[in-house]
Amino acid sequence: MAQMNLVLLGKQGAGKGTQSQRLCATHFLVHISTGDILRAAVAADSALGRRVAEVLDAGGLVSDDLVNELVRERVARPDAAHGALFDGFPRTVPQAQALDEILAPHGVSLVINLDLPDELVLARLSSRRVCQECGKIYGEADVSAISGTCEICGGDVVQRSDDQPEAITRRLEMFRRDTVPLIDYYHQRGLLVTVDGDGTLDDVTAAIEAAIDRRSTP
Ligand code: AMP
Repeated sequence: MAQMNLVLLGKQGAGKGTQSQRLCATHFLVHISTGDILRAAVAADSALGRRVAEVLDAGGLVSDDLVNELVRERVARPDAAHGALFDGFPRTVPQAQALDEILAPHGVSLVINLDLPDELVLARLSSRRVCQECGKIYGEADVSAISGTCEICGGDVVQRSDDQPEAITRRLEMFRRDTVPLIDYYHQRGLLVTVDGDGTLDDVTAAIEAAIDRRSTP
């Protein structure tokens, strides 16, 4: 079967995490989230993790070279042979160029730009909570977000340090600076499809699936 490599672009809080999980399950893709990989490095408290922790806490971006190397290693593992969904990567044009090279000869199949206005991003992220154990994400109205205990695994449900308002605002600025050129990069290659992220989870999933179908049916 041909390899399918999807890139999910969008501001933090646009719903990339949830849509990624669904797409990976439906299309048997490996979920490659550089944010998750970096947070795992921090949790492991390795020398690399300690360097990364400072950048994450400040809401900055980790260097292209480091992130590219982490992705290259992840893609080389056997479970990525069928394809992958990239979430949070690439974030810059140099990272996109590196990804083209890493995925050769298959390349990127489709880039989904999940679009959401800044006001909605701020509202969503400042109320977002995440389980430290299993990674489940909760919104403001979820009982687990209020009680602080995960309904799935009983782990602690916390606010990520990079979901504080100042860090969110910085990330929105960085998104414009770094990622807008990336949207142009993929648009020029005919790989970009923009999906409105302001809908129910099911509506957004359906819009993404329709875009994948259009791409796979010549
Ligand atoms: P995320 O979970 O995707 O929001 O990522 C959390 C943090 O990890 C970001 O704010 C960055 O500091 C760092 N990070 C994740 N992916 C990348 C990337 N592709 N390039 C640079 N830094 C990244």
